[in-house]
Amino acid sequence: MEVARNDAGDLITIDMIRGLATVPVLWCPGELPDGSECGAKVHVKALNSKVMAAHFAAQHEPQCDRTSERSDDQPGDQGHPFAQGLRPVRWRLRLGESGASQGPDGRRRPDDTDAGTRTRRRRADSSHGIEDTADDRSFSTLLMNILAGKIPPSLEVVIGARPPEPASSIITDAPSAHAKTFTDRDVILWGKVRQVKTSSYGSLILKLEDAADDVAILVDKANMHRLGIDASTQLVGRHVIAYGKYTVPDTGRPHLRVERDALAFNPRLRRPRRS
Ligand SMILES: [Zn+2]
Repeated sequence: MEVARNDAGDLITIDMIRGLATVPVLWCPGELPDGSECGAKVHVKALNSKVMAAHFAAQHEPQCDRTSERSDDQPGDQGHPFAQGLRPVRWRLRLGESGASQGPDGRRRPDDTDAGTRTRRRRADSSHGIEDTADDRSFSTLLMNILAGKIPPSLEVVIGARPPEPASSIITDAPSAHAKTFTDRDVILWGKVRQVKTSSYGSLILKLEDAADDVAILVDKANMHRLGIDASTQLVGRHVIAYGKYTVPDTGRPHLRVERDALAFNPRLRRPRRS
């Protein structure tokens, strides 16, 4: 795990821990299938190891999307957490209730203390060719990695039944999201919320800072209900990410229609944990 959250809600990378006399209390910012935060306590591992990359580890809640991010079961990563031979780094983004949660190569890793036998580096073997697998991720985790500058260079993204595609071709920040490039395309758009408006249908329109062509994100009532937000929620200043179709109506402004559950904020909207 490469990004954790501190008590103030700030994202902390492993590099930010180096050299500190006192390691702050850190929490797992990962997402559970119902959209709530994992919140497990995070420990720093292998900070000074010469055989293993420094990383965060935690006893995650079940099906946290960061459970599979790294395992510290064996040395040998040699400081390159994303080097995987022929296997591309591939993240399957959770799109909602039907999205199954599983770790790399289909394994489940419910317990960090269980070493396991099928880590992905063992599968990065040229005799197997390129494995058709992907690590499960939530949109909130994708956003956190973007904000922390921790997107693997050759990342491919898998959404639903779409074939894997380079993250660089489907993800755009708001200032680059020009209508002439993206109209009628499915895109992952992220930016910082500048203003919140309500549409005549009761949906929320999120205006983004410096957005090209003033493209906005249209949040339907299902997502408003799922996240527990309405026009009174303090969204201005948060970062947001959404996946959907870049739509330019004949009359009206460009906007992204959120596909299913593909919407997340950072800082995350806190919801009460199930007991
Ligand atoms: Zn977690």
